[in-house]
Parts: sequence; C-alpha cells; structure tokens
Amino acid sequence: MRLPDDLTVLVRGWLSSNNVLIHDRDDDAGGAVLVDSSHCTHAAQTVALLRQALAGAPLGRIVNTHLHSDHCGGNAAVSEAFGGVPIDVPSGGFDAVQRWDEDALGFRPIGQRCVRFSARGRVVPGGRLRLGAREWEVIAAPGHDPDAVVLFDSAHGVLISGDALWENGFGIVFPELQGEPGFDAVAAALDAIEQLPVATVIPGHGPAFADVAGALARARARLTGYRADPDRHARHSAKVLVKYHLMEERKQPLEEVLRWAQGASLFVAIWQRVGAPLAGSPEEWAARLVDELAGSGALRVEGGVVCDA
Ligand SMILES: [Zn+2]
Repeated sequence: MRLPDDLTVLVRGWLSSNNVLIHDRDDDAGGAVLVDSSHCTHAAQTVALLRQALAGAPLGRIVNTHLHSDHCGGNAAVSEAFGGVPIDVPSGGFDAVQRWDEDALGFRPIGQRCVRFSARGRVVPGGRLRLGAREWEVIAAPGHDPDAVVLFDSAHGVLISGDALWENGFGIVFPELQGEPGFDAVAAALDAIEQLPVATVIPGHGPAFADVAGALARARARLTGYRADPDRHARHSAKVLVKYHLMEERKQPLEEVLRWAQGASLFVAIWQRVGAPLAGSPEEWAARLVDELAGSGALRVEGGVVCDA
C-alpha cells in the first residue's frame, strides 16, 4: 500500500526487522528518526539503505519498539555511521541495555548475537514522542515481549506495531516459554490496538497493511489456539528458535547446531517441558526439529551441514 511521503518503510524479511524511517521534511524536528534497526549481520546493508532513503538528510534519532536482536541489532552500526545518533529504548529494557545484561535482554538464553550499544533515553508507555512532523502515542504492547511498545500517530491513524501485530499473527510469546503468563498480555495488547482508529499498520515484519480488523481476527484465532494447547505454542516456538539460529548462521554443521541447542538455556527449558517425551536430550530434539524444518522446506541439510532455505 502507498504510504505518506514522510514515511519510508524498508521491508527486510524475518532475520531483520523492517526499518521505519520518519523523515523530517521541514528540517525542524532535529533530523529523521529510525524506528528499529534490523539484525547485526545486515548492518552494512541497513546503513546503505538508510543513506539512500535519507538522500543526504541528517538522521537525528533511533527508537526501538523492543529489544530483540532483529530489531536493535543495527543500533550500534547505524548510530556510528550517522555521527553518533542517540538511541532511545523502551523504558523496561533501559537498565539492561546500559549494563549490557545479555541474560535480561534475552540474547544469551537463545544464543543470539547482538552488537552492544548504549541508550540515551527511555521510551515510556503512556507518553508521547514527536518524531518527524508527527506526534506519536507510546502504548505498552506486552505479550511477545514484556517491555515492547507500539507507536500510534492518531492524527493520521498510523500504527507502528513491532511484533505485537503482524498481518498474519504476532511474535512468539517469550514469557510463556519462560514459565510466566503471557497470553493475557497478548490479548490485552490486541484489545488496546482495537480501540485505536488505525488506518495503516506498519508491522515489524512484512509490508504495511490497512485491514486491521482482519489482522486482529487472525491474531486472536492464533491466540485462541495457543491458549487451548500451550504445548503447541512451545513446540512451534522451539522450531522458530532453530530456524532463527540458522538465519543468523546461514549454514552450520549439524553438530554445531546441536551444540547451540544444548547451550541455549531457553531451548533446553522448552525441551524439558514439551520435548523430553519425544527426545532423550535437547540435542536429539533439535535434530528432530531440523528434520521437520527440512521436511517442510524451511531448512536444507546437505552433507551434514544445515542451511537456511
Ligand atoms: Zn521481537
């Protein structure tokens, strides 16, 4: 769909989140703002795409919807490339960023990479942000991530939804995988979005879309399925973690994939809960999941090497 010309969305796929560039067309808002910076493995490409989209205009600020490695992994490189651009993060993750606590940030438990950066400020739910020529409400959107926010420009009906709402679903519910409740928070976030006069959703992954009611209905149907069978959500999430790991690595000998599985404490915890009846160890379960992912075409295995498909 066509977006207003002060918004550029660089649609990046699944390893890297979309980049939302809010231009400062009148040169009075302190430069353009980037919402989410993609994965660190794509940092050079992200910087190049941003240079092209900015066409010489300054970048004034980076804001994150949440602190997953596919959304904030380019923060360090983008900030440096554009002259030390300040980075603002959701308030719930601010302290963990400043001390770079990879456990609290969730990178270590799933064995993911993210390049260290420092935050300048906190994006506070309930607050407002002036980004470009637009005023954005900051709305808490826990569920997928307890500290996630979405940004809503009520004057134009534009919602930047991160991983709280996609055109088809939402991100896996990490708290549930850690033994904490999360499904109610997903429902509350969807309810909060439904209350807003949204005309355009710019999700964290996939193109912008206008059918908010349809997306909410699909998300709720998925949530109903997860609630009815939380183990299905856990099994699906374990597969997502394996696939994401291969997207990061691109290809890796199977034995290294299995070593990653053994060392990723969240994967091990999911195995203990739902994988143990099926496989005697996290490695054995990871091997099965690789087979299943290869069977569905999401991965390829060639000569003992697992490749992202
Ligand atoms: Zn996420």
